[in-house]
Amino acid sequence: MKRKKLIVANWKMNMNLQQASILLHRLQERIQIHKDIEVVLAMSYLHLQPLSLQIDRRKFRQAAQNAYYDDHGPFTGEVSFSMLHDLVHYSLVGHSERRVKFNESLDDVRKKVASAFRNGVTPILCIGEQKDEHLRLETKQVVHDQLSSALLDVTPEEVAEMVIAYEPVWAISNGNDYHGHDIATPDDAKEMATYIRHQIESTFGKYAANSVRILYGASVNSENARAFLDADGIDGVLVGGASLNYHEFSGIVNAAYRSLHGIGV
Ligand code: PEP
Repeated sequence: MKRKKLIVANWKMNMNLQQASILLHRLQERIQIHKDIEVVLAMSYLHLQPLSLQIDRRKFRQAAQNAYYDDHGPFTGEVSFSMLHDLVHYSLVGHSERRVKFNESLDDVRKKVASAFRNGVTPILCIGEQKDEHLRLETKQVVHDQLSSALLDVTPEEVAEMVIAYEPVWAISNGNDYHGHDIATPDDAKEMATYIRHQIESTFGKYAANSVRILYGASVNSENARAFLDADGIDGVLVGGASLNYHEFSGIVNAAYRSLHGIGV
């Protein structure tokens, strides 16, 4: 089964509207239309509507970074998936920063995945182990538990549509500086993609396992992207810090093109 490559930018809580608009402009100048690569920009709620008027839809899709699971009601300050329905194709769900800094529980993540599907938004489910769990060699157990809990309420057809991003939390840079951080290797990414696909297959069957796209994320930049994109079972990357720099991010999309067409190494 041929799965389309997927490159996702996570802009996090960065840039005012003018800065985001300039970044989008620069990306649109540099990134070509690739029919076999999908490029997604996960931006602040504030930027979704205005940038929807600027974005070249042949090149990019918009995503939210989070949303609330109830559709409406007394939830001051929240934005629901039902409100995002017409605006975004995707939403990140369960990013480690939400789990750790905003105490998102396994149950919250499960409800968000279900709510995203209910409202026609495709979830990009983020899973991955913390540093202490990594050091205790609990990676697979943690990923297994996060995945099985998040997918409790979804069908095999929905799993086939969705995206799972494996992000080892200890390797996320949280910024633009890649030096001095631990980095996972493409072999680690491949091993976890295989593990995740097996788990999906045993619960949801072969079709879901062969269709679901699995991304790697954590400190990906234009230099190391190719090695991750070449790893077996990895369908793309989720990029934080480097997505704020148009040279870096367009370099990563270019690496995906070269990986797909076996150009250079
Ligand atoms: C992330 O937080 O999803 C991420 C991948 O960040 P970075 O690329 O900065 O490690």
